[in-house]
Amino acid sequence: MGYEGLTGKVITPFNPEYEKARQEYNKAIDEFPIAIVYCYTSQDVANAIHWSRKNCIVPRIRSGGHNYEGYSTGTGKLVIDTTLMNGIKVDTEQDIVKVQAGTRLKDLYETLYEFGYAFPGGTCPTVAISGLVLGGGIGLSMRYLGLTADSLIEAKMVDADGNQLLVNQCHNPDLFWALRGAGGGNFGVVTSYKFKLKKKVDKITLIQLAWNNNKPARFEFLRRWQDWLVNLDRRISAFGRIYKQGASVNAFFYGKPEEAREILEPLLSIPGLTLRNIEYIDFIEAVTIIGRAYERTAFQATGRFVEHHFSKGELKELINIMDEAPTNHDSYISVYSLGGAVRDLEQSSTTFFYRSANYIMAITSDWENEEEASIHKAWVAKGFKYIKSITTGSYVNFPYNRLTNYEVAYYGDYAARLACVKKKYDPCNVFSFPQSIKPGCC
Ligand SMILES: Cc1cc2nc3c(=O)[nH]c(=O)nc-3n(C[C@H](O)[C@H](O)[C@H](O)COP(=O)(O)OP(=O)(O)OC[C@H]3O[C@@H](n4cnc5c(N)ncnc54)[C@H](O)[C@@H]3O)c2cc1C
Repeated sequence: MGYEGLTGKVITPFNPEYEKARQEYNKAIDEFPIAIVYCYTSQDVANAIHWSRKNCIVPRIRSGGHNYEGYSTGTGKLVIDTTLMNGIKVDTEQDIVKVQAGTRLKDLYETLYEFGYAFPGGTCPTVAISGLVLGGGIGLSMRYLGLTADSLIEAKMVDADGNQLLVNQCHNPDLFWALRGAGGGNFGVVTSYKFKLKKKVDKITLIQLAWNNNKPARFEFLRRWQDWLVNLDRRISAFGRIYKQGASVNAFFYGKPEEAREILEPLLSIPGLTLRNIEYIDFIEAVTIIGRAYERTAFQATGRFVEHHFSKGELKELINIMDEAPTNHDSYISVYSLGGAVRDLEQSSTTFFYRSANYIMAITSDWENEEEASIHKAWVAKGFKYIKSITTGSYVNFPYNRLTNYEVAYYGDYAARLACVKKKYDPCNVFSFPQSIKPGCC
């Protein structure tokens, strides 16, 4: 088997760039693909698909490489990487942006802000638009502007036969439905997206609160958080967490600080606040400040949808899990607000099945040395077992390889319909990974 037929920038194990090219964002992923092909065009993508089928090598699709479980790579697989397809075109007449598949969120936010637009993306600057939007996409603007996938109006995808498909409400509408929540790695290689831009923005209120070295604040935070979300002003979206020694929350508010303070009162009145930053700044500055917190580590993480109000006993059990955490700050249970604009779309309009949930709860542990990995993974596994028992489904962008019956966990009642879409667009299951959608008997 040779590499003839592959076009674009082809990195093989004999190439000095291979070591860097095989890395994913999660340092715990240590896979050795047969080659990585950085595509410049849709034709490069089609050639890579043809090559992998001819040589019986499974292709894996990668854009930003942030999949928690490394499903965008694999030992002995061909990685089709879209990093070099990263153009952004803004149409201010129609309030539309065209984005190529490998575009990172940082570049997208910055370009859009030059034209005065906000965007409902995620918080990590190096995540690519592809994985984010294809799994739904949550962030600090979502209660105001919806999920990332809710702004998608069109995509272009290269299918398993190398054909380029136009995907929107009129062309391949079943695939358009499937791509908005279940599209990551399952149906073909998406090469570009068209988004409707919903909001011009100037300044927003950035909110950063923390209760450090304050164990009682953790219970109080979780208790008040769930009450706070009920009837919460949709202009505010928040990501919070509890860790061994305390709690913290970051939020964006599309309004002025005075109003934000009133809305935040139930949280601000939790005793022992050690950080209280509520400032009215440029949208892009707020995005940048939040993005700065991310750095590459080895980690295990996963997240679930919360649909019911937790009892005191359930909240206490979550605190017990935190008390057993392997680290003081690098192991945590996070909460991500849903509701607001996320509930505006009709439930069945996309594959984001748990759209009506109140929030997402995730459990994460980061480590530096490989020898510690098993302790962290065991803590996440134990904590996840409990969290799973009190929650509904799993967020596909926070995947977990130990999840059983993953199709239903990620896609609920849509699992069977998605298997039919898979059969139509990828009947030979060319695009497969450990938790991919399998072609159904439709
Ligand atoms: C530090 C960090 C912060 C995060 N923050 C958020 C957040 O704020 N909000 C949120 O919703 N999520 C967040 N996530 C999760 C993130 O959305 C997912 O990991 C997402 O899938 C990453 O996309 P990617 O393109 O960077 O990753 P990749 O690993 O390249 O891809 C992810 C999945 O999508 C598939 N895929 C990639 N490109 C394509 C394509 N062009 N066509 C078809 N399939 C493709 C891959 O095969 C894989 O299954 C975060 C993740 C990390 C690690």
